[in-house]
Amino acid sequence: MDYSPLLNELMEALRCLPGVGPKSSQRMAFHLLERDREGARRLVETLGQALDRVGRCQQCRNLSETEICALCANSSRDRSLLCIAETPADVLAVEQATHYQGMYFVLMGHLSPLDGIGPAELGLEHLEQRLADGEIQEIIVATNPTVEGEVTAHYIADLARERGIRITRIAHGVPLGGELEYIDGGTLSHAFSGRREL
Ligand code: ZN
Repeated sequence: MDYSPLLNELMEALRCLPGVGPKSSQRMAFHLLERDREGARRLVETLGQALDRVGRCQQCRNLSETEICALCANSSRDRSLLCIAETPADVLAVEQATHYQGMYFVLMGHLSPLDGIGPAELGLEHLEQRLADGEIQEIIVATNPTVEGEVTAHYIADLARERGIRITRIAHGVPLGGELEYIDGGTLSHAFSGRREL
């Protein structure tokens, strides 16, 4: 059926959320307008503020409101270790599941030439600069165990080898094709400590 144009537009807009199809977007729109206008206003305001103020950390490229994120600014972390992850959610998963105390670099994706995602899109030049500093002694590649994740891992391994930096990859326990973010903490923790040379 046809709703008012604005209602249609709202439902269409809500579909930008992951996993939200026509049915759920309809349910969400009705919920916000019928039952929770206050919640809707809060959502709009917070989303607007987040869009304005949350950018990328200049060091690790993770989402941050400040130029350097809290994790990068934390002087008690080990600056000789660098964990490379695909997404902010993966960083969170590693932080929650393991006792890792090193630094991070967030790719915000993986190499995927067919989708036009090359080294530049993942900030790998920025990574190279960081490796050139000489502070990093080991890179732990925590990209997902998918084909693209593996390709990305090998690309990074080449960068590290050129500079004589030790490179390891999180290993067993992570199911093939599994997304890091959804792996249970125990498995991820085990995969992290059981990393192998790449
Ligand atoms: Zn950072």
